[in-house]
Amino acid sequence: MSNKILILPGDGIGQEVMAEVNRVIKWFNENNSLAAEVEFDYVGGTSYDINGTAISEDAMKLAKSSDAVLFGAVGGPKWDNVEYENRPEAGLLRLRKDLELFANLRPAICFPSLVDASALKREIIEGLDIVIVRELTGGIYFGEPRGIEDLGSGNRRGVNTQVYETWEIVRIAEVAFELAKKRNNKVTSSEKRNVMESGLLWNEEVTKLHKEKYSEVELEHMLADNCGMQLVRCPKQFDVIVTDNLFGDMLSDVAAMLTGSLGMLPSASLGKSNNGIFKNALYEPVHGSAPDIEGKGIANPLASILSFAMALRYSFSRESDALLLEKAISNVLESGLRTKDISTKGSSIVSTVEMSDAVISALNNLT
Ligand code: NAD
Repeated sequence: MSNKILILPGDGIGQEVMAEVNRVIKWFNENNSLAAEVEFDYVGGTSYDINGTAISEDAMKLAKSSDAVLFGAVGGPKWDNVEYENRPEAGLLRLRKDLELFANLRPAICFPSLVDASALKREIIEGLDIVIVRELTGGIYFGEPRGIEDLGSGNRRGVNTQVYETWEIVRIAEVAFELAKKRNNKVTSSEKRNVMESGLLWNEEVTKLHKEKYSEVELEHMLADNCGMQLVRCPKQFDVIVTDNLFGDMLSDVAAMLTGSLGMLPSASLGKSNNGIFKNALYEPVHGSAPDIEGKGIANPLASILSFAMALRYSFSRESDALLLEKAISNVLESGLRTKDISTKGSSIVSTVEMSDAVISALNNLT
């Protein structure tokens, strides 16, 4: 049975890094019988230039029939003045909505050889391996009523509504508990129950689910402001953090910077699972299209390659392949090779293509 992968490189360095991901997929096809069938399509500004829209219906159809979508990045100054509904980000939002990708997973892992890239002290960051599970399709970014109201006399009111229902909290908490069971068995649930009713509901529903179905997993509750502070003070106390859309947006950016480089951070956005296998799933680097380095051949492809490792783990149930790829990347970093964004004194600076050449040789050496 083949695994269907859709690659949407998008704009800017998205195209450069996703070409390298395709080479890594080919390696797994040729050497580890992945049997992946890869198709490409357009998204973002590139799609707008060709189709007049940030994602075409054909591309959406392909995305829905794929086992995993690998997404590069979208956006850039060229499309700054495109009409709002066709702006590059609209392609990503449509994918999230139509594929019902409600769970955003962002690992923050500190590779031993990149400890010094973090702004935090070595002892705080060394060995870090945590995941933030953010609810992605509900909460204050979507709640009604919303808008800006003119109250007259130069006074206006801006309104957004934080709203969650039981089923939304339960399904994201289930993803977090299931994930923790395969890791270090601990979930930290984060909200603001002290000042928000939606936070109180979140807390109660997570506690109830834990008692009914996941009592073997350690659960702690932490107010979101404290969670931000603890992430910087002592991040290794966490295993899996589960939180809502707004707090997740902020806490995952805090966690991202613990490891020091945008070019190293993968992410997954997942929909419904079938026995822990996610077939509605989109994998993407956390970084954007980086117009400042576009076309220079110096973009770091590792965040995108690590996102593919997440696809191996969550969509294709190939944990050993995911570990193999992560080990190959770790070995390359250990050997001192660096793209410019993660370079330190004395390291050898390589191009985008040379970095993935090195990953592929490391894969060959490990097998
Ligand atoms: P960015 O992530 O594109 O770049 C921020 C900085 O990090 C830049 O200096 C860039 O050169 C560097 N950088 C990012 N990725 C890198 C990599 N792989 N290798 C080496 N250096 C890397 O963020 P930005 O500059 O704020 O945004 C640029 C465009 O990307 C905007 O149009 C923005 O809307 C878009 N964007 C898209 C996404 C997405 O597609 N999911 C996410 C963030 C930003």
